[in-house]
This record gives sequence, structure tokens and C-alpha cells, in this order.
Amino acid sequence: MRLTVIGTGYLGAVHAACMADIGHDVLGVDVDAEKVAALAEGRPPFYEPGFDEVLTRALASGRLRFGTDLRGAAAHGKVHFICVGTPQQAGSRAADLRYVDAVVDGLVPHLSAPCLVVGKSTVPVGTTARLTARIAGLAPTGVRVATAWNPEFLREGFAVEDTLRPDRIVAGTTSRQADEVLRRLYAPMLDAGVPYIGTDPSTAELVKTAANSFLATKISFINAMAEVCDAAGADVVTLADALGHDTRIGRRFLNAGLGFGGGCLPKDIRAFTARAQELGVGHAVAFLNQVDEINERQRTRTVTLARQLVGGDLADRRVTVLGAAFKPNSDDVRDSPSLAVAAALRRQGADVRVHDPEGIANARRAHPELRCEADLLTACRGAELVLHLTEWGQYRELDPVKLARVVREPVLVDARNALPHDEWRAAGWTVRALGRPAPPDRQPVARGGEPLRTVIGPPDAETDRAVARPSTLSTGV
Ligand code: NAD
Repeated sequence: MRLTVIGTGYLGAVHAACMADIGHDVLGVDVDAEKVAALAEGRPPFYEPGFDEVLTRALASGRLRFGTDLRGAAAHGKVHFICVGTPQQAGSRAADLRYVDAVVDGLVPHLSAPCLVVGKSTVPVGTTARLTARIAGLAPTGVRVATAWNPEFLREGFAVEDTLRPDRIVAGTTSRQADEVLRRLYAPMLDAGVPYIGTDPSTAELVKTAANSFLATKISFINAMAEVCDAAGADVVTLADALGHDTRIGRRFLNAGLGFGGGCLPKDIRAFTARAQELGVGHAVAFLNQVDEINERQRTRTVTLARQLVGGDLADRRVTVLGAAFKPNSDDVRDSPSLAVAAALRRQGADVRVHDPEGIANARRAHPELRCEADLLTACRGAELVLHLTEWGQYRELDPVKLARVVREPVLVDARNALPHDEWRAAGWTVRALGRPAPPDRQPVARGGEPLRTVIGPPDAETDRAVARPSTLSTGV
């Protein structure tokens, strides 16, 4: 099938390469000429495991090309996928749909044959209906343009796997023909047993929003429990393990820690609350505001804990942050909790070094004020405090004995509850984590010799100010 994929970022580039890999003839289009040139040369413009192989294979097959021209896209595709960014609007919680609209406006007047425009970006419910009317007004006379929404559920770090073997395909269409086109397009997946949920566009749009809201709620639930554990001297990891044995609850997404970030979950739950307000049902999803607040609070709690561990004042203290990406196996630093904490520590006067296996270039661009180190030992040398903020596999492999020789003070905050604390403590480290009591014999001691509070209380005003994020988030488009 002749397809175009418009917007070749984390979602679109992988979708384009995977669609070519399963046999379609694909043209990827983006306004970013540098990104397009890199993709056309087989150089992934971002880090995603397995993407370089599928990109190389798809380019070599001759079934994948890239360009910047929507006229070319209009001429090429029978199916056009919209994969552009839908960031948070400036000064509002709502989604900014200007990039989606720009694609429609740039593409549709050039169409000359019947085709299907399929949205994959995450959008507020009702977007397909709105775009259908917009398209009807822009399409040349006699050219039939059908619309559909086919939300994407891929996880960065597993994007190729999730695109080729998704948990399910959700397709919101308004005609049998559109449904049949999508079933044919995804035939290799359907033949392999991937469930296909054919529905109306509004339900399809809502499935994505609801899925992200549920995941965000699960993470914030366990982080709320971590706050209670800190106050009560209980252990949130044991709590999560015990909860997870209940098959109705399950253990996944119950890892207490620094919380979620990235270019999707935070802006998607905010956009959902804004859209629900417009629909007159803001009350139904008002809990998502708390989910958001709990999530943001883990960042301030981490900064508070860091400040306590260096004796109450971060000024000129050497602090190392392990991890800049919003999650492991990605170089994506959009709304990264780690970088928010690193920047807040810096604003409170700390001398911060940030390490990340893949996200350093993006971290430097997003936070030029932070000192980013590509080498882990260089980043840790002389540190008075190490914070583990993104759970990359390579941090789990660290030898705490060797690292203790490099730092000035062996003090660790494991804000992802992912390192083997017993091993680190046996190597002489003071280890603290959100939602876990400090062992009584290892109370951290402040500079003046006073034992520090072991309960991380509510974040104070100073920390709140330091972590306060800008009211708008950019997704880099
Ligand atoms: P991204 O910022 O990496 O990519 C968006 C791309 O669109 C950029 O390359 C940008 O240059 C391009 N673009 C912007 N305007 C354009 C235009 N008029 N014409 C052509 N290209 C244009 O964003 P992303 O992470 O790929 O996310 C895209 C959408 O997919 C968002 O709605 C997001 O919520 C959703 N989504 C993302 C993921 C993910 O893991 N990244 C997963 C599921 C859904």
C-alpha cells in the first residue's frame, strides 16, 4: 500500500520504517529538513533500540523514502498518517493542535485521488470530527477524503517492538471501506494474532487518553503511598510487592519513585482535564489534577531529601545526577523528572554534574546551565551526593565499592528504588530512597553532627520554588 507518514519524530519515524518493513511503500515527511536528511541517510535522529536496523533494512528495500514536501505526500499516498506533535498549549492545560491542523491545511488542497487520512498523534476527543469538517472544506471538488483515528501506544525504548507487535490496534473509522483499508494495512499484525478493535473515532481517541490516564494514576497512587510510608516509617517497595500479588492489581507500574515525565503522559492528562471541562464533565476527571500534583511533588521531595543529606544547604555542594532522559533506553528529555531535579539543585546553588548514557546531547540543549558529562566516573568524581534518577540498566551494574573510591562522600539517593541497596550499604554507602525507611544504624548525619530527619516531610517553599516548572511544556516541535 502507498502510505505517507507526516511527522517523523519518535512516533512517526519508527512507524514509517516499520510500515516499509512489513511491505508498504512509504514516504516519510517532516518540516525538519535536518531530521529528514539524517533519516534518508539511515542515521536515526534519536536513540531508540533496534531502530537503526529497521531503518537500514527499510531504506535498502527501496520501500522507504523521506522528504519535506506535502505536495509530494499528496501525490504519493493512498493513506496519510498524521504523526506530528500535540504539545501542551502555552498558558493552558489544553493540547496545542496547530501542527495537526497545519498538516491538514498543507496536504488536503493538493490531493487529487480518493484517500484516507489517519491520525496517530494523541489528540483530544472530538478532533477527528473537527478535522473531517476542515478537510471537507479544503478538499478539491470531486476528491473523496475519508478520515480515521488510529492512536499509537508505543513505548519509547520499545518503539520498534511495540509497532511491529502491538498489544492491540485501535481504529476509529466512520465507514466500512476505511475499516477495511486499515485491516489490510495491518494484515501482518492481525495474522499474527494482534487484537483489532474497530470502533468510532471518538472512542478511539478516548482509548489513548484513558490508557495514559490510567497508567499515570497507577504511578501516582504508589507514589502517594510512598509519601504515607515516609511519614509512617513503612516500606513502599514491600507494600508494592504485596499489592502486586493481587492479580486484580498487578505489580507493573507500581514502582514508587520520582514519577513520570516525557513528551506524553504529563501533557496528555492535562489535555484530558481541559477537554473534559469543555465537554462539561471536568468533575469526572478532576482526580487527574491530583495525579499530576502527586507526580510533581516527587520531584520536590527528591530535592528536599538531597538537601537534607548534604546538611541542609546545597550551596557549592558537589552533586552528581545519574540519568537525564525521562526514562531508560531513550534519549528523550522532554519534561524529564531527572533534569527537573538537576536544574532545581543547581538553582539552589549545588555544583551539579549530570550523566546519561544516551541523553547528554539533548540534556545540554535543554539545560545549558548544567554540566553534563558523557563519562560516568568523571561525573561522579568528588561527589558529595549521588542521585540515581533514571533507571538505566548500566547504573544497576555499577560496582558500589569502586564508585565509593571515586566520590568524596558515599551518599546515594535512589529515587527510582531500583538499585540493590544492601550491596551499596555493604560497600559503605548511606542509601536513601523515597518511601523507604533509613536503617536505624545508618542515619545520615548533617555537617554539624546533628542526625538528619529520616522522614521526608512535605516539600518546603524553597524547594517548591526551585522545582517549579514553566507553565508550558515544549515537545520540541
Ligand atoms: P516528536 O516531537 O518527536 O515528533 C513530531 C514531529 O512532527 C517532529 O519531527 C516535527 O518536526 C514534525 N512536524 C511538526 N509540524 C509538522 C508539519 N506541519 N508537517 C510535517 N511534520 C511536522 O513527537 P512524538 O514523540 O513523535 O509524538 C508525536 C505524537 O505522537 C504526539 O501526539 C504524541 O503524544 C504521540 N505519541 C507519542 C509517543 C511517544 O512515545 N513518543 C507514543 C504514542 C503517541
